[in-house]
Formats: sequence, structure tokens, C-alpha cells
Amino acid sequence: MGCKQVDATCDNCYAMKFFNRYHHNLEEQGKGWNSNFRLLIKSWRAKLQKIAAEPGTPKVFVSSLSDIFDNDFALINAQGDLILNKDGTPRTFDQERQEFFALAANMPHVTLMLLTQRPGNITRWLPKWGAPANFWIGTSAGTQETFDRGVAALSKVQAKVRFLSLEPLLEPIDLDGKLDGIHWIIVGGESGPGARPMEAEWVRNIIKDCNRAGIPCFFKQWGTVKNNPDPNDPTILPQHESYAKGGCQLDGWRIQNFPTSQEGATT
Ligand code: SF4
Repeated sequence: MGCKQVDATCDNCYAMKFFNRYHHNLEEQGKGWNSNFRLLIKSWRAKLQKIAAEPGTPKVFVSSLSDIFDNDFALINAQGDLILNKDGTPRTFDQERQEFFALAANMPHVTLMLLTQRPGNITRWLPKWGAPANFWIGTSAGTQETFDRGVAALSKVQAKVRFLSLEPLLEPIDLDGKLDGIHWIIVGGESGPGARPMEAEWVRNIIKDCNRAGIPCFFKQWGTVKNNPDPNDPTILPQHESYAKGGCQLDGWRIQNFPTSQEGATT
């Protein structure tokens, strides 16, 4: 767990809020989020192995409280102390990352979705032999500038599925003619206290651009009911089977498409 903010997309980062709520003592000691130390949550291996034991072909987003392609850094424990290797050297995030890649490559039936705010780092940190076939690699983009930068960086990445998560969507983004080599688009509004607005027309235009390019699009959520133009959207209600924050219907439809098995041939 741990990360540093990259751009405006990170402004309301829930991982940072979570960290500050439970580890403010470390923050006050200068050992927390704003330093070069990040916490290691040791349970990730057990969680991954539990998912791998589930029936079928599970899909899971990896590292939702940090960024798997972050730069290297020393890890601390919950007391704020450096975690050491057997030889006394500080345990690093890159060691964890390499162990994650090795473990993940041994569970080919599990689709692991790796989302980063640092698309320029992907090729640097992927294993030298490239992304395992069960990795879907994507980048977040909430603005036109971050989208353009993300597509340029992703196009250099060898992965079965390359995707962009336009969430939180902070402004209209023009995708038309810019989706070559991209296999999937996710779009959604910001949730939580201080959530920023997202207009329905921005979402409609993104879906139109995806349809024109033949790219599957997944509309995840409005984020907040204030963004949703339909106050009667049944998916606003927590008891609805497709409940999403602020609801997830657009003009009466749920748009929840995934890449198919034919998509995503390595370039
Ligand atoms: S990259 Fe993700 S985890 Fe890191 S600060 Fe930004 S939103 Fe939070």
C-alpha cells in the first residue's frame, strides 16, 4: 500500500484517505505517504492464492491501494520501521513486484488487471520476457492530456490486452481515431466526499467513439447521484444486483462490455 500523487486524477485518491485514516501516526513521524517509505501489506500473496483457487476464470484488479508500476522504494512495516532482507539490506518494492510477476505467471487461468498512473514506467518494470498472457495492462486518464500520453505509452507495451480507465472522468475526452492498439475502455465518475462532476454528454461521446472504433466500453458508475441525469435509475439503490456508486445506467442502458477472447493479440 502506498503511492504518490501523479496528476489531477489522483486528487481525491481513496488509497491516500485510507492510509491517512489508519496510519496518521506514521505520517506525523515523516514515515508515511509523503516520504519515500511505503507500507507493505503482507497479505497480498495469500489473497492472490485464494483468488486463484476460485472456480472458473476469475478477473481481478491488482494493487488498488498503490501503483504496481511505481518507482522503486524501501518498504516499511506498520510500525514505520524498514523491512530488511536476510542480508540486512532494505526490502524494496521492486523485490515484491518481481515476486508478484513470478507468482502471477503460475496462475494463467486468472486474469490480472494492472492499472497504473505511470504508463511511462510499464516497460521498465515488466519482466524482461514481457507481460504474461494473463496480464491486462492499462493506464488511468481523466483528461485529454493524460489520455493522449497514456495511449502513446501503452502502444509500446507488449500485452494481450491494453486498456484505458477514464475514471474519474474530469473533462470531455476525444477518442476518435486514437484507439489503434487499444482493446478496452472503462469510463466512470468520481465517488466519495468532494467528488468532481462528470457530464452525461462526455460519457455518450466516449461510447460513440468506442463503437465507431469497434472497441468494447465498460461504463462503471456515475460516482455520485448528482452526476446521474436519471434520478430513477434503479442501480442507484444498494440492493440492486448491478448497484454502482451513483448508479450505472446511461439513457436506460447498462454498458458493460469486456474484451473478447479474440481481442488483444500481441503486436
Ligand atoms: S496513482 Fe492511484 S494509488 Fe497512487 S496516488 Fe494516484 S490514485 Fe492514488
